[in-house]
Amino acid sequence: MSASPKPAGPTLSSALREKYEPVIGLEVHVQLLTQTKIFCGCSTQFGAPPNTNVCPVCLGLPGALPVLNKRAVEFAVLASQALNCQVRETSIFARKNYFYPDLPKGYQISQFDKPLAERGYIEIAQAAGGSKKIGITRLHMEEDAGKSIHDGLADSSVYTSIDLNRSGTPLVEIVSEPDMRSADEAFEYLTLLKEIILYTGVSDCNMEEGSLRCDANVSVRPRGQEKFGTKAEIKNVNSFRFIRDAIEYEIDRQIEALEAGERIQQETRLYNPQEGRTYSMRSKEQAHDYRYFPEPDLLPLVVDARMQETIRKTLPELPEARRKRMIADYGITEYDARVLTVTKSLADQFEEAAKAAKNPKRVANLVQSELMGRLKAKGVEIDQSPVSMKGVAMSADLVESGAISSKILKDLYDKAFAAGEDFPAVYEREKPQQITDVTALEKIIDEIIAANPKQVEQYREGKTTIIGFFVGQVMKASKGQAKPELVNELLRKRLGR
Ligand SMILES: [Zn+2]
Repeated sequence: MSASPKPAGPTLSSALREKYEPVIGLEVHVQLLTQTKIFCGCSTQFGAPPNTNVCPVCLGLPGALPVLNKRAVEFAVLASQALNCQVRETSIFARKNYFYPDLPKGYQISQFDKPLAERGYIEIAQAAGGSKKIGITRLHMEEDAGKSIHDGLADSSVYTSIDLNRSGTPLVEIVSEPDMRSADEAFEYLTLLKEIILYTGVSDCNMEEGSLRCDANVSVRPRGQEKFGTKAEIKNVNSFRFIRDAIEYEIDRQIEALEAGERIQQETRLYNPQEGRTYSMRSKEQAHDYRYFPEPDLLPLVVDARMQETIRKTLPELPEARRKRMIADYGITEYDARVLTVTKSLADQFEEAAKAAKNPKRVANLVQSELMGRLKAKGVEIDQSPVSMKGVAMSADLVESGAISSKILKDLYDKAFAAGEDFPAVYEREKPQQITDVTALEKIIDEIIAANPKQVEQYREGKTTIIGFFVGQVMKASKGQAKPELVNELLRKRLGR
């Protein structure tokens, strides 16, 4: 992600910001990870040559009839359940009529007054601690439109090209209640929503490929006023950070307009990340302009209680619940749990290692201190890590038992990453020899005792905690190869004289 410039918009005094309360609702489109499209058998593969994954149905040719993809329904129901929504037994597909060149039928098949699911919520963490429920008004299924290509082609100065590969790709639209009161809350909501969807596995949520898209409805009202202000919709922002910046800008813009005695126009605005500001795109069409009516070519969608129950059984443990359980099970901190549950894959792998190791907390520390930084530097994901979780568990146990020092551990991880080998293989080969030879260690200890008479005196006067200083010195002198327990034992003997 490129650096986001500071919003170029007005920078208002905090007193002025305090005078108004922002009200934010988000509409998120998520592409479902089905192999084929929602109403035909065409592939949904991203990046295929233009107009190769098409057929009469998704081209909107006369007489072609849609057939609903069962897998898409199952995914949409699973997402609804993960977002605590109530799934309707009978939902209705509707035609949303509008003209656009990349919409060949002249309408989009969506759901309108009877959507698949309603009245859900997710709970976001709050900066001040605690959590806040953000309502989800509805989740409905729909098909995606095609893509207009305005530039990048040889004749782009003269023509706009249309690629209909995306036409008919299955989407769910998740509409939140206007429950968010700051750009940061919107950011938190999106982050958690994406995390939950990823955990369910119904989408890859890849923003660059358009699998997750977000529109933000933003308005402000004088603090204490119940009635909502007029909202502007910000469309087509392609990163969560830009959405936060765009909302931040929009809040300031609206406050400034109101303070100047202007009225807020209901309109659609676009965000320009280079300039850090939003621009008016068009005044908002009212919903009734779409002339929704029930899709006559599709039967009502029935998802009965039994089917809902069958799907519910496949619902994985979701991130928040998982974090709470991991904190209890492994004695790790809230912070550890957050880091380790960023993806389901990482959480799964951590748990595998934590269960195998003697001290799960040490595994949590090692994953963060030894593994993640090196993976980041190498630019690879956890699934491509040369050191497996089995390796991490083994390394944790070796440190735990005192067989190797943390310095040797670091060296072994360096070697494993440099060679692209797993920890056990590197350990077998290097078999770091600890100095367990008492005579050799006593020699080092005597030197250190001789060099630090002041500390020796303090120890003998009763400040026994200073032993840590001596252990550190011996470890340093032995290049980390002394066995700490043995050093401790020998030091006590020597110093005790
Ligand atoms: Zn098709």
